[in-house]
Amino acid sequence: VENPSLETPFVYRSKLPDIPISNHIPLHTYCFENISEFAEKPCLITGSNGRIYSYAETHLICQKTAAGLSKLGIKKGDVIMLLLQNCPEFIFSFLGASMIGAVSTTANPFYTQAEIFKQFNSSKTKLIITQSQYVEKLRDSAENAPKIGEDFLVVTVDDPPEKCLHFSAISDADEKEIPSVSIEPDNAVVLPYSSGTTGLPKGVILTHKSLISSVAQQVDGENPNLYLKSTDVVLCVLPLFHIYSLHSVLLCSLRAGAGVLLMQKFDITSLLELIQRYRVSVAPVVPPLVIALAKNPLVESFDLSSIRAVLSGAAPLGKELQDALKSRVPQAVFGQGYGMTEAGPVLAMSLVFAKQPFPSKSGSCGTVVRNAELKVIDPETGLTLRHNQSGEICVRGPQIMKGYLNDVDATASTIDVEGWLHTGDIGYVDDDDEVFIVDRVKELIKFKGFQVPPAELEALLLSHPSIADAAVVPQKDNVAGEIPVAFIVRSNDFELTEAAVKEYISKQVVFYKRLHKVFFIHAIPKSPSGKILRKDLRAKLASSPA
Ligand code: ATP
Ligand code: MG
Repeated sequence: VENPSLETPFVYRSKLPDIPISNHIPLHTYCFENISEFAEKPCLITGSNGRIYSYAETHLICQKTAAGLSKLGIKKGDVIMLLLQNCPEFIFSFLGASMIGAVSTTANPFYTQAEIFKQFNSSKTKLIITQSQYVEKLRDSAENAPKIGEDFLVVTVDDPPEKCLHFSAISDADEKEIPSVSIEPDNAVVLPYSSGTTGLPKGVILTHKSLISSVAQQVDGENPNLYLKSTDVVLCVLPLFHIYSLHSVLLCSLRAGAGVLLMQKFDITSLLELIQRYRVSVAPVVPPLVIALAKNPLVESFDLSSIRAVLSGAAPLGKELQDALKSRVPQAVFGQGYGMTEAGPVLAMSLVFAKQPFPSKSGSCGTVVRNAELKVIDPETGLTLRHNQSGEICVRGPQIMKGYLNDVDATASTIDVEGWLHTGDIGYVDDDDEVFIVDRVKELIKFKGFQVPPAELEALLLSHPSIADAAVVPQKDNVAGEIPVAFIVRSNDFELTEAAVKEYISKQVVFYKRLHKVFFIHAIPKSPSGKILRKDLRAKLASSPA
């Protein structure tokens, strides 16, 4: 077919039937719709101090926070920024904002001043909810910079520094004073930012309709794709400012009535202690956490027998590592989800988590979610490809983003006129309709015209007992164009040599995927959402002549 738009695409669908989705109501209404079934059950469990909020309490504090935000002048369509580590106030603020039609933009509290203000300005933030330790970064001394208390408000969840308000100033308001607002399905509810793995983080507009659709695709229906029970305790160690945790950990749990165990930050010992103490049953993780759980000897001394499901997402996870973790939590089912901020966020989810599960292969990142369509296209011609052929993954459905924030051109080049979101990820769908990600288009290394996916080499490297962590990047080369080189963190075997690493790989791969150089380092740079920051490693290579 000459013109791709004339071709009938070959489209993949879920094995689960489509379901009716209540995406005409606001997100908070949807999340708390079934609350009478579990009102007194734990909703939020604060790992740091053991404080537990029931569903009824959580709902009430969200309503009070809604009234409090409104008292401070926040109106429908206004943006508040959540600059927080995981804590109950994150949830109160996010859903409170939703209740008055306001929008939350979620930001990494480790951002620098410049990064915070970039997001602040582009989202037109009116109020920031944060911890006192981050307030210094919000005081920009430049003359025309926005000032706390004058140009925007700052609320802290702990002791408020000068000119800031304490969280109780909003959460103590009278819930009967929530203004009545009409919220349309197409109104924004959150402005998350992409991880900034390949460039600058991009602001994404997600609406009430998109998030409800995406949550429903997981947890609604007779046979939910991600079956969560009200007796489950779901681990929330991944940062809520990233859409993976916000959606798949928090919102999915709320809808299903499960308990959410909030951990402020990752620390392997407290993580293991909390899993043991609260009998965590569902553990959503990212590959760096899988590495820790599979390789850290500490794990052996804790009781992880409560875990019934481990879900990994956000970055490639090879079969080898998935198998290594299985031996540590043999009773648990293990599967992957595939998400992208712009996709609202989940494109595919393993059917091992379904109420009536389907088998799934190690290394697969699931099957396309229900009520959506997925296709694989040739990135050059745009024509759709069939089973087992690699190409760019595209998705269509009610869950995808409305668009990028303030960027019509980027939106138009990502969502085409037929409504397909182009992911920039290369992958294929196998004979059982399972999706396998090869790598990102942008990350493929081109060696003499051959394509080398770094994720594949990283997975092999991680299967070596003396390798604690690994990343593969391209290095410019006059002859080959690019050559694959590896950065390696040794576990404890300081004898491991460059030659041994190279040989380990060359025995397992075709000639053009061989490693040309190996550098030993102390840690692989990763984003809080679990992605290898290959751009940092590429920069390292460029600045130091190897
Ligand atoms: P940016 O777009 O700012 O460069 P990012 O793409 O890392 O950053 P996110 O939206 O957080 O930002 O991540 C989405 C990407 O994560 C996907 O496009 C895909 O490359 C990767 N990803 C997510 N889940 C998986 C998975 N299970 N396996 C492999 N890759 C995954
Ligand atoms: Mg991206």
